[in-house]
Amino acid sequence: MEEFYPKNHQEFLEWFHREEDCWEYLYKIRWPEGFVCLICNHGKGWHVRRNLMGCASCHHETSVTSSTIFHKSRKPLILWFNVIWQFVSQKTGSSAINLKEAMGFGSYETTWSWLHKLRRAMIRPGRDRLNGVVEVDETVIGGVHPGKRGRGAYGKTLVVVATECLGKKCGRVRFRCIPEATTQNLLSFISDFIAPGSKIITDGWAGYNDVEKAGYKHEIHVIKGSGRQAHDLLPHIHLVDSLVKRWINGTHQGNIDPYHLPFYLDEFAFRFNRRLSSHRGKLFFRLIQQSLMTSPHPYKKLIKIKSTKKYEKNLLSQLIKDLNTSNKQVWALKKIKDIDPIIEECVRNLYKVRPIKYIKITGDGIIASNQIEGSRDKIPITKPFHSTAIGIRLIYDHQFKTLEFYEINSPIKGWGEEMVKAALNSLPLNWRPTVIMDWSEGFWDKIKEQYNHLNWLNF
Ligand SMILES: [Zn+2]
Repeated sequence: MEEFYPKNHQEFLEWFHREEDCWEYLYKIRWPEGFVCLICNHGKGWHVRRNLMGCASCHHETSVTSSTIFHKSRKPLILWFNVIWQFVSQKTGSSAINLKEAMGFGSYETTWSWLHKLRRAMIRPGRDRLNGVVEVDETVIGGVHPGKRGRGAYGKTLVVVATECLGKKCGRVRFRCIPEATTQNLLSFISDFIAPGSKIITDGWAGYNDVEKAGYKHEIHVIKGSGRQAHDLLPHIHLVDSLVKRWINGTHQGNIDPYHLPFYLDEFAFRFNRRLSSHRGKLFFRLIQQSLMTSPHPYKKLIKIKSTKKYEKNLLSQLIKDLNTSNKQVWALKKIKDIDPIIEECVRNLYKVRPIKYIKITGDGIIASNQIEGSRDKIPITKPFHSTAIGIRLIYDHQFKTLEFYEINSPIKGWGEEMVKAALNSLPLNWRPTVIMDWSEGFWDKIKEQYNHLNWLNF
C-alpha cells in the first residue's frame, strides 16, 4: 500500500486543520480500494455524511472510525492526530502526565487511556520475524534486588529480549514478558519471533540448550576467566536493555505497572525499530494505519485486569497476559486467583482454534465461543441451540479426574472436531474424558466411532 504522510511538523499543520481533513485521511488508509462494508463485505456504498458510509447491499452504516481504536471517541479527530504526531515524533515518547499538560486534556484518565489505546496498536499483526544474527537473553524490569536466575523475583518482571546484530549496530528488537526462563518459554519466544536458520547467540543458561534442535544455529558465549561482565558477551542486548530501562525510568519515572509492561515494551519496540526512518511522518502513518486495524479498547477494558501482589506471577495472570489480543479475549471470573495447568493448557489449545474469540474461565471449567451474548456484561455464552455459534463448554473435576464435554456446537463442519481435539490434547493420560449426550445437536452421534475411548453419559 502506498504510504502518504506529512514529512515534518510544518507539513502536518498544513495537511490537517479541519475534522474533514482527518476523516479523509482515515478513509484513504482504511479503504484504499474503496469502501468495504464491515457487516457484509459488500464493496459499494455511499456517503451518508462525510464520515459515515452506507452499504448499498445491507444498508448498514459504518463510520470511518467504527471498530477501530477511535471508536465512539467524543473528542475531535484533530486532537487525536495531534496526540499521535506528538507521540511518534519525540524520540522518547510521551507520558500521560506530559501529554495532559501539552494538549490541555481535562483528565489524566483520558490521556492515560489514549496512550494505552495507541500502545495496543503498536504491533503489526503478522510482522516479520527477526533474522540473521540475533542475540537473545533475559532481563529483569521493575525491581532493584537481583533474584535467582530463571524467575522474576517479587515485584519484578522477567523479560526475554531478542536483538538483531548488524555488525556493531542493533537491528530490530522483540520483547516478551515471561514467568520463568524455562526451555519452553524461551523456545516459544524464539520460534515466534526469529526466523528458522538464523544464528542465535545466548549465554550458557540451560534454558537455551535446545535452540539448535529447534532449527537454529546456536552460538554460546560464556564467561571465561575474570574481568568480564556477563553483559559484555551480548553487547547488543546490553545496549537495548539499558535503553529500555533508561526510557522507563526517564519518560515514565519508573512507574509502570507489571500488567501494562508488555504494552510499554511494544511501544519501545515500535519506536526503536523505526528509529532510522527518514521521516517521523512515516511512524505517524504506520500508527494511524495500525490503529484502524485495532479493535476498540474502552477505558474499562484497559484497566480491567490490574495486577496485584497476589495476582502477579501465577499461571492464570500469565495466561491472560499472553492471550489477550485485539481479536481474542480470555478472562476469568473475579474470584478465581489461579488455575490448574491442565485447564491452562486447554485454554491455550482452544485459543488456537481459529473461530474461537472469547474464552471464559470459570471455577471448574471453560466456556469458549465465537460469540458473546449480550453486550453489557460480556460474558461469553455459547449458544448450543443457536444456529451460528461455534462454541464449547467443558467442566473439569480434579478429584475424579474427569473432563466433561457439556455442550458443543458447530454449524460449520470441522470446527467441532477441532475443539474436541484441543480439549483432549491438553488432558493427562490418566484422566477420563466424558461426553454428556444431548447437548451437542447430534454432533457426537456423527463422530462417536472415532472417539470410542470416551465415556458416555446419557440423561
Ligand atoms: Zn453491508
